[in-house]
Amino acid sequence: MTAKQALDNSLMKRAEEHMQGIELALAMTKRNMLQLATHFSADKSLNLLFLEAKKAVEADGINSIAAAKIRKMMLASIKPGWDKMTEEFDVRQLHYHLGPGSLSFLRAHKPSKFGDRMDEIRYTIVDTNAEKKARTGFETGRVYSGIRGVVPIFSVDPIIKKEVHMGALEVGTSYSAILANIDKINKIGSAVLLTKAHVEKNIWPEAIQKSFGRVIADCDCFIESSSRSVLETKNIIMAPVIRDLMGNSHNLKIIEYADKYYILYKEPLRDYRGSLNSALADARETILWDDVTQEINKFYSDIKLNIFYGIFGFFLIEIVLFFTLRVERKFCEMNNLIGMDGLTTIPNRRDFETTLANEINRAKRYKQPLSLVMCDIDYFKLYNDFYGHVEGDECLRKVALALADSLNRAGDYVARYGGEEFVFILPNMTVKQAVEVTEKARLAMMDLAIEHEDSKVNSIVTMSFGVVSVNLTDGMTATSIINSADECLYQAKEQGRNCVVS
Ligand code: GH3
Ligand code: MG
Ligand code: MG
Repeated sequence: MTAKQALDNSLMKRAEEHMQGIELALAMTKRNMLQLATHFSADKSLNLLFLEAKKAVEADGINSIAAAKIRKMMLASIKPGWDKMTEEFDVRQLHYHLGPGSLSFLRAHKPSKFGDRMDEIRYTIVDTNAEKKARTGFETGRVYSGIRGVVPIFSVDPIIKKEVHMGALEVGTSYSAILANIDKINKIGSAVLLTKAHVEKNIWPEAIQKSFGRVIADCDCFIESSSRSVLETKNIIMAPVIRDLMGNSHNLKIIEYADKYYILYKEPLRDYRGSLNSALADARETILWDDVTQEINKFYSDIKLNIFYGIFGFFLIEIVLFFTLRVERKFCEMNNLIGMDGLTTIPNRRDFETTLANEINRAKRYKQPLSLVMCDIDYFKLYNDFYGHVEGDECLRKVALALADSLNRAGDYVARYGGEEFVFILPNMTVKQAVEVTEKARLAMMDLAIEHEDSKVNSIVTMSFGVVSVNLTDGMTATSIINSADECLYQAKEQGRNCVVS
């Protein structure tokens, strides 16, 4: 997953979680409205008044003096509870409707308005009156849109002693309270938008006129509620889009507004009727917007930082490589100067040559014999081929140290002659003594027991040795001594390897 996908996923998850929060709050609010309506519907004296109202309207009409008198009595009875609910609990509507259908009898929130029929608008009421069952949902009204709980109202008629159904009571609140509470807790802006057609069909023109500022011509919509100012909501809706996060569905996008980045998430809004009938159009949508400036800026600065580290790292590695190579070269040069073999840390060929020259002079001076041994690892090429060069180097190191360890007389000397060849200088030693020392060296190196599956003489690494011992009075040179030792070594190889020939 790229960093951009990870960012998009986390923003998507965040938007969805916020929307779930709104939906949960909406569900709880619907329940609360139903609870309140149920509570009022249990008030027997209020219900008796409503029964009187039904009879008065049937006898003298909705505008009669008798109906007005009952309306006033009902209002007085409701008022104390109603005032508390509006002040403290954001309840916005309490409305008695006579059935069947919907004939408005008493709006506690607007007592002067009554007598209108809402058979074609308020389906929560119409359905409750038809089925005599409670209903809940979001629905646009003549004055307010609201989240409503509607319950049927019955009363026992004292004359006929039978239960009569009069109509419905609805209690409602607006989205504003829900959205404001969520904003307070989560610091996210949210709004409910209605289509122009939906508004014009349902709301009284004078009510639309009063909230004219909420009409947004450019998006052909109406801000029903918002947790933020109408101005911010408009600007957010019309803000330039940086990127669509869900393909081209426009459901989730990153927008820029007032030097900040926001995610803007939209979910279709279904009203009560739309929730029952999927063929009907959406009322419009619920939107939410959340400031993600920090996340977006961090993302871009991380990218810049990665590019910077990439370039910086490249140069750093180049510089380190340059210096290590130089240091290594210097180290090799230094080893060479001081006469040490870099791989095995025993003396190198160059040191061997000067040492041999000195020993020849000394042997001549003191008229002593001098022995020289050429040593060569058997089938070492096969070892390298089988185990690899790194293991080969390791083997050379071990062999060198084993050979050096096996020479315990002061003055005995071992050097790496080259490749897998070593050489001993054994001053003042007869050929017999030299062969003994060499044989010990051969066994010491076999004691290492370095596995060599491909060897043709043994299952472990072995060596062949060529020993010469010379008396230097007869004018021999370094080269001729080395050549004789080499000759013996060749014979050791010929005789089957892993042996000493003098
Ligand atoms: P023989 O028994 O006849 O000596 O066979 P050999 O395979 O040992 O002889 P040859 O001379 O054909 O091969 C010597 C091999 O030693 C060749 C080379 O790969 C290896 N070699 C030489 N120097 C080094 C070194 O510094 N490190 C490693 N790993 N291998 C080396
Ligand atoms: Mg060799
Ligand atoms: Mg060899």
